[in-house]
Amino acid sequence: MKVGFYGHVRQYHNIKDEIDGNIQTVLESGSYVMGPMLSKCEEELKAYMGTKYAIGVGNGTDAIYLSLIALGVGPGDEVITHPNTFFATAEAAWIVGCKVVFVDCDEDTRCIDPAKIEAAITDKTKAILPVHLYGQCAPMKEIRTIADKHNLFVVEDNAQGIDGYGDGFKQGELSDAVCTSFIIQKNLGCFGDGGAVFTNNPDIDAKIRKLRNHGSDARNHHSQGFNSRLDDIQAGVVSAKLKHITKWTDQRIAWAGQYTRKLAGAKNFRLPTVRPGYRHVFHLYVLEVNDPSKRDAMVDFLKENGIDAKTHYSIAIHQQDGFPWGKEYSFHGTFENAERNADSCVSLPLYPELTQEEADYVVEKVLEWDSAQ
Ligand SMILES: *Cc1c(COP(=O)(O)O)cnc(C)c1O
Repeated sequence: MKVGFYGHVRQYHNIKDEIDGNIQTVLESGSYVMGPMLSKCEEELKAYMGTKYAIGVGNGTDAIYLSLIALGVGPGDEVITHPNTFFATAEAAWIVGCKVVFVDCDEDTRCIDPAKIEAAITDKTKAILPVHLYGQCAPMKEIRTIADKHNLFVVEDNAQGIDGYGDGFKQGELSDAVCTSFIIQKNLGCFGDGGAVFTNNPDIDAKIRKLRNHGSDARNHHSQGFNSRLDDIQAGVVSAKLKHITKWTDQRIAWAGQYTRKLAGAKNFRLPTVRPGYRHVFHLYVLEVNDPSKRDAMVDFLKENGIDAKTHYSIAIHQQDGFPWGKEYSFHGTFENAERNADSCVSLPLYPELTQEEADYVVEKVLEWDSAQ
């Protein structure tokens, strides 16, 4: 049997009429950029998130750096995040000339460890950039408390966490901006690149609207900006899929629950941790092999058996060798947890469109590997 890592073609087939209908509407409208489908999608997105504003942008990376610029965070300022995330989290801060200060992640959730943040704050620190890694919200209450104490902005990297919430908080409630990505492999994926910023701050909304469109808020009037818009065809795809996101997340959570129950007896790896009261949306189901030297062999074993397992992310950002703008980053302390995560992570296929047969087969092969150790 073959089990692929993504279910988006199945997903397209499941709601083909709705997606095709929206794309057709855009094609016939003649408005493909900054048109009515984008406005409709933004209205739906903000209603869904419960924030005052939603701005469609070109991708998730742009969502982050446009938010930083709108907040006035830029060259020479320091932004705190953790190194075991997708490269773009740090890249977005580098793009605007910030120094990225890494602190280690939590031992269990692999989100940023709030206990490590304060020691990394200097008089140049302007923002904390927590990542809702793998689909579980970072501990936003603790982060907000630290941000308030030191007068810092908080920008949520929510590329992986859409439709999630934490214990007693919603996304956007405890931050200045929430940034998401609609690239196809994310839980709410369009058919190309796309992203959005959510905020409750009218000033940030107005600034990002301008920044994404060549610094223009009126025809022929410009200030320095970018070209970073969610185009109307992609907005049509997001709009069609948004109606299904809650149900899809529930299905992800159900598959994750099955994996966790059925793999609970395994001896050679640990399973994902879900914090009480959190809705972990399982963008990724990541287990960690106890003996990291066996990790690659486990991935190979699964691949040989037709299961497209992956690693997220097997090289932490501070371990990457290419920093295009030199040493504009710094480390704070050590990164045992992030490095452990990089060395031992294995992501199993998990998406709403998985079948029972496929899920059972994944469990069977993972347990087969486990008992052979
Ligand atoms: C995917 C991702 C991004 C970047 O999104 P793009 O749309 O690919 O630019 C940023 N941060 C995290 C954590 C991601 O997973």
